[in-house]
Amino acid sequence: MTEGIDCDRALAELQDYLQREETPGLGPLIEEHIERCAPCFRHASFERNFLQMLGTRAASIRCPDALRQRVLDALRRQAP
Ligand SMILES: [Zn+2]
Repeated sequence: MTEGIDCDRALAELQDYLQREETPGLGPLIEEHIERCAPCFRHASFERNFLQMLGTRAASIRCPDALRQRVLDALRRQAP
């Protein structure tokens, strides 16, 4: 029986875990480790906040999309 994962493994998989990418079966193990391990828990909270910040920032950057759309429309209108 494997008893959870160690810190190296947890931190190595943390990014993927937080972004919910390619962590087959490891999610629960990482969660469990983070709950028991204070340093990893702090690390995880930091990463989570960082990702959330990136998320809100990315969500607020909608202008470039609109601008891109306007440029595309203008180009389309110019096309014969
Ligand atoms: Zn740890």
